[in-house]
Amino acid sequence: MKCSTRKKIYYSEKEAEDGLFQTKVIFPSNNAGAVYQCGDCGQWHVTSRGPMSKSLKEAMDSGKLAEAIKRYEMEQRYK
Ligand SMILES: [Zn+2]
Repeated sequence: MKCSTRKKIYYSEKEAEDGLFQTKVIFPSNNAGAVYQCGDCGQWHVTSRGPMSKSLKEAMDSGKLAEAIKRYEMEQRYK
């Protein structure tokens, strides 16, 4: 299934949140910060608009995101 927004489709809010987290790990400067249910395809997408996702904010505040970024950078270095 495709969406007219041409955004990546996630099939649940949880999946979208995970996708958002991964995006921030791999592309820390990416401005995506929230997930939303699409009015067009009915599935979930990541967006840079609107208030920041609560779980992403928690991951930032707790250092979980920074830790994951560090781990990812290490993995890239030793690939
Ligand atoms: Zn959509």
